Amino acid sequence: MEKVVALTKRRGFIYPSSEIYGGLSGFYDYGPYGVALKRAIRDLWWRHMVELRDDVVGLESTLIMPSEVWAASGHLTNFVDPLRQCLGTCKKRWRADTVKGDTCPECGGPLDEPRMFNLMFKTHVGPVEELSSEVYLRPETAQGMFVDFKNVINSTRVRVPFGIAQQGKAFRNEITPGNFVFRVREFELMEMEYFVKPEQDDEWFDYWRKERMRWYVEELGLNAERLRMYDHPQESLSHYSKQTTDIEYDFPFGWGELEGVADRTDYDLRVHQEHSKIDLTYLDPETNERYLPWVIEPAVSVERIFITLLLDAYDEDVVNEEPRVVLRLHPNVAPVQVAVVPLSKKEELIKVARDVQRSLQGEFRVEYDQTGGHIGRRYRRQDEIGTPFCITVDFDTLNDNAVTIRHRDSTKQERVPMADLAARLGALVVER
Ligand code: ATP
Repeated sequence: MEKVVALTKRRGFIYPSSEIYGGLSGFYDYGPYGVALKRAIRDLWWRHMVELRDDVVGLESTLIMPSEVWAASGHLTNFVDPLRQCLGTCKKRWRADTVKGDTCPECGGPLDEPRMFNLMFKTHVGPVEELSSEVYLRPETAQGMFVDFKNVINSTRVRVPFGIAQQGKAFRNEITPGNFVFRVREFELMEMEYFVKPEQDDEWFDYWRKERMRWYVEELGLNAERLRMYDHPQESLSHYSKQTTDIEYDFPFGWGELEGVADRTDYDLRVHQEHSKIDLTYLDPETNERYLPWVIEPAVSVERIFITLLLDAYDEDVVNEEPRVVLRLHPNVAPVQVAVVPLSKKEELIKVARDVQRSLQGEFRVEYDQTGGHIGRRYRRQDEIGTPFCITVDFDTLNDNAVTIRHRDSTKQERVPMADLAARLGALVVER
């Protein structure tokens, strides 16, 4: 973990938020390669959850929602963690379910009795801070999908079973943020609410657990041996859930939740129907039956995938008798898919290299790297940020109109005519 954290800072993936003022615990900023990686994760999720399907539509709802929403959904009472504070010297606060016994893990002092702490950030809308102006930053995007359910069925041609997907910021005032960006206070959720006939929840629940696991292995390239499914026992289920499976990853700090797949029953639509007094039933056009659909929800944050990808991809090996650090990221998500590196700073080479760069831009995430130093040094830099392919323009290029593709994982080199370069890279990115 320490090595990955150091790499993310060194190479501009992640910085502590407001670092020059000492930072803010549980908040992080994303630098140039971090942004590229996050966008790639988001786009890949959207592609497989929405664009490549004909049964899921998108939604963007607001980050601030009125308290009525959270009263109805149960978050005002149930979105709590048990908190215990150290009464000894360090005064640290702990999530009660993460400490054993009654002594502080840090200083050994006594801990107070657990009390419930609501994780939602509260603020006010308008100039007067009174009870009626209280609103909350959403701790999940799901409620937007339920609150807008009627709008979506009335304005589109969706038919059960169908899903509504959303990506966007969520906020949780976590008692103990940590493990780098595994648990933060501001993060980006990617959630999909899949509405099904009430008696068909088991089969769709099973479908989505398997489909999500497939996505991690085949599309993100995560090591299948470091993934497993964990079915929650009845007593640890959330207040809305009939069954929940976590897709877990074998993190350096132990197995942890990467994504949760939950069978939310008709809980959310039912409570919003009760509180808003608006009919949220769905009219089945074939049977003319009215019912509240049940919901299967896969939910994951971009940050959890981000840290999982980096840990899974981080490797050290030896090339030409020199140790190297390499991120073996899948080309689907690599922040830079192709780096164009002219062998030297000679005018003629730069001109060709710039042409190559322009011909690939738009189709791939491309970086041009002419910084000084030996070509090997530039390859190493690209290895560290996970670039799967480097294109080298050398003096032979000027005569044979061919360039070299240098492969990150094997360090093998392959000569390709410039005319075939885009097609060859396209095939490589797909086949990996
Ligand atoms: P926990 O019990 O660990 O606090 P949870 O079970 O309440 O978490 P969910 O509500 O199931 O978490 O969250 C859905 C997904 O959102 C998680 O699988 C994870 O990918 C992501 N997530 C949740 N909390 C955080 C956080 N604080 N930072 C980053 N990602 C988070």
